[in-house]
Amino acid sequence: MNKMDILFQNVTAVTMNPDGSILENTCIGITGGKIVWLSQQPPAIKPARTLTGSHWVVMPGFINTHTHLPMTLLRGYAEDMALHDWLFGKIIPVENNMRPSDIVTGTLLGLAEAAAAGVTSVTDMYNDTTFMAQVAADSGLKANLGRGLVCLDDTPYDDLKGVAEMREAFRQWHGHDDGRIVIDASAHTEFTFQSRLWRLLADEAREKKMRMHIHISETRREHDECVAKRGVTPTAALAEHGVFDVPATVAHGVWLTDEDMDILAQYGATVAHCPVSNMKLASGAARLSALREHGVNTSLGSDSMASHNAMDMCAEMKTACLLQKVSTLNPQALTVGDALAMATRNGAKSQGREKECGQIAVGFDADLAVFDFDKPHLTPCFDVMAHLVYAARASDVIMTLVRGRLVYDRGAYLTIDLEKVLFDLRREVLPHLF
Ligand SMILES: [Zn+2]
Repeated sequence: MNKMDILFQNVTAVTMNPDGSILENTCIGITGGKIVWLSQQPPAIKPARTLTGSHWVVMPGFINTHTHLPMTLLRGYAEDMALHDWLFGKIIPVENNMRPSDIVTGTLLGLAEAAAAGVTSVTDMYNDTTFMAQVAADSGLKANLGRGLVCLDDTPYDDLKGVAEMREAFRQWHGHDDGRIVIDASAHTEFTFQSRLWRLLADEAREKKMRMHIHISETRREHDECVAKRGVTPTAALAEHGVFDVPATVAHGVWLTDEDMDILAQYGATVAHCPVSNMKLASGAARLSALREHGVNTSLGSDSMASHNAMDMCAEMKTACLLQKVSTLNPQALTVGDALAMATRNGAKSQGREKECGQIAVGFDADLAVFDFDKPHLTPCFDVMAHLVYAARASDVIMTLVRGRLVYDRGAYLTIDLEKVLFDLRREVLPHLF
């Protein structure tokens, strides 16, 4: 090693390594986007930049494994409704009017919020994926982007606009910047994408080695209607058509049966748990303990800002823990270590990035969230992991780095022109959509 770009000095590192190690008074050195030094001893080499803050806690950047970033435009637009009424009565009519320029502004707004909240990677499902990929690439964040396919008529697979968009995004962006941008295959749900199309999408995903992203069994109604119509659960139906033949991220999974969990475990799928959204839309409480007992990887997602209202992974972790405890009456049902693993390491696995991020370790990408614990609500600190889950807030994040690049630094958005985003939002987007 003959140079070092950044050295964090005298910080507490919550490594999220499988051994659960927390390193105090530690140095984290970054070169070429990678963590190259992790030790209480300072390196012999003089770094280009040294960052020292007393009471700074550094953890792997959050991996938000279920988002619809452009829906950030719809935050607070429709509240206190059941999912079907909310989606079909309020949300989709506005979305049908969105232009690519609106989607770009919504994506930028969502990514700015993510960067300020310590989120370094997202798994998103939406439309106009090529435009979104450009925005995500420019933002410096990591993104797995899926064109959520919807088809309710008899249009042939190859004639679907969404399939053309998926293919174009894949051609232009899949693997961009050494894999920072990934294009996933994605169908919206079992009931909004016709079964005659599942095998075609699954085959294309397998041929192109794409991952899969889909909502499954979010509501009891959706789950029960599938059983009534097809005689099997959505998970079993989709599995029969090869949808899980590639690594899949299943959003929600609130109403999964034990048999569904076996299927998902067998295929190595991840369930992206979205507790705030599930509670707000009165969808129910996913059975996380059962999922883990069945061997299913579980991660965390915020879902859209229309159904969550704040991208705050601390709140997501806390809510996940509270929901499991209150729904099972077991205080051990989800621990702080479990919740942090879901928000980091497990999320990296769901994105196929487990060898590059989700942990602080030498050789991993320097995807980091830095918290300032010098705050009244974070002092005293007996257990740093418990504070991250139960006491910290997204606003306690002071820096976010992706591959060693600062994307957010103490109030400054370094890769996104937030002033322009807000100007465009007020001047162009809101008058058009609302
Ligand atoms: Zn969703």
